[in-house]
Amino acid sequence: MRITNLNPDPDIGASSWLVELDDARLLLDAGMHPKREGRDALPLYKLLDDKDLDAIALTHCHHDHVGSLPVAMRHSRKAHVLMTELSHYLIGRVLHNSVNVMMRQREARGIRDYPLFTHDQVEENEVQFQGFKYNRQIDWASFAKARAGFPSPTLEFFDAGHTLGSAGILVRGQSQTLFYTGDVCFHDQTILQSARFDGVRADVLIMETTRGSVIPPPGFTRQKEMQRLTTALQGVLARRGSVLLPAFALGRTQEMLAELALLMRAGDIPHQPIYVGGLGRVFTEIYDQKAHLATRHLPNLQLTEELNLIVLERDQLDTIKLGGGRIFVLTAGMLTECTPAHDLAVRMMSDDRQAIFFIGYADPDTPGGRLKASKPGETFLFSADAGPLTRRCEVQEFDLTAHANREALLDFAGKVSPKVILLGHGELSSRQWFEEQLRIRHPHIRVVQAAPGLVVEA
Ligand SMILES: [Zn+2]
Ligand SMILES: [Zn+2]
Repeated sequence: MRITNLNPDPDIGASSWLVELDDARLLLDAGMHPKREGRDALPLYKLLDDKDLDAIALTHCHHDHVGSLPVAMRHSRKAHVLMTELSHYLIGRVLHNSVNVMMRQREARGIRDYPLFTHDQVEENEVQFQGFKYNRQIDWASFAKARAGFPSPTLEFFDAGHTLGSAGILVRGQSQTLFYTGDVCFHDQTILQSARFDGVRADVLIMETTRGSVIPPPGFTRQKEMQRLTTALQGVLARRGSVLLPAFALGRTQEMLAELALLMRAGDIPHQPIYVGGLGRVFTEIYDQKAHLATRHLPNLQLTEELNLIVLERDQLDTIKLGGGRIFVLTAGMLTECTPAHDLAVRMMSDDRQAIFFIGYADPDTPGGRLKASKPGETFLFSADAGPLTRRCEVQEFDLTAHANREALLDFAGKVSPKVILLGHGELSSRQWFEEQLRIRHPHIRVVQAAPGLVVEA
């Protein structure tokens, strides 16, 4: 087996891995880099130039895992695209939204590479998308090879508990196996239950490392963290300020809405409308409609019925009054430019009644990361678009992550008992922590830091 890392960045970047096994080729994920622009945001697809893919398999519908799929499909026009049935309900919306975002960025920021693909291309591609249930073995070598009597390698999706439809992928060849965690969560969230990776064994493990440098404080529980957030929300609403909860449209948004619904049911915060983005609203409807297909808590909680969700239109961002104690759950989670959350944060920044509460990861090089690192009263460069701003609003951070804690991930790696582990999807300090720990606890495992373009023979 040969594995090539196509991520152009050793950190989280744009996830994409080429697996060559038993004379067949599989691409795992086709992401887009959240911090880069134009063609620099793409995986290293030039490494696919002389290689026909048999199939592309996707772990989940976040931008850093699927955002460049139509570009990857240009390299192998016949490759089928395999995903979970839940991802199949989401993927088209994600890709069409990407086209819209790229068009806006082309206009606002003059990025001439954009759009990297069009709505027409997404529609053409959609014919090749196939959705599968978790825990089924799926042949993925091309039909031509199957006709020639070639035994196809298989793959199987395992519920990763990270977002609706998320999966780890187990690839089985004739004599070797590989497991790719994708993004995984080993603890329960409010809606989604923890990953179901029980019994997974593989020769090669490709592992995310997002939280390798996060040490949960002593006595930390998600429940206590939620209580802390509730108290903070009550404080802002009592002073008639508004709260921005920056969140990915898929996953974070629905988990946060579920918490807000529960708080309203319990009378902890008043019943009031929640302002969301258009895409957040669409994904929330899909969470509701497909509740019966997901392994989840609160299976009967229908967010769109329980909450008064109002879609905040772009032209309202500059005018909506912030003095009335409103709650906004908007993209992007890292306050990246050209997003509703970025623009609203700019308005809130200099007003000490307003609050921005982070509920997920924000890379240090994004506007969200820079805001987190700033001090009250400090003037700092928020973003290229907004320039320097003085922070007067309340800023807090709550750890309600959808990524596995490092000890849980380390335990999992031990159970998989692989010969080789490739570490990706994390900052250098996170990957280093995993490397050190794995060397101490499992000295027989070969640990590899996944540099861009790295080829590993296993
Ligand atoms: Zn993700
Ligand atoms: Zn990711």
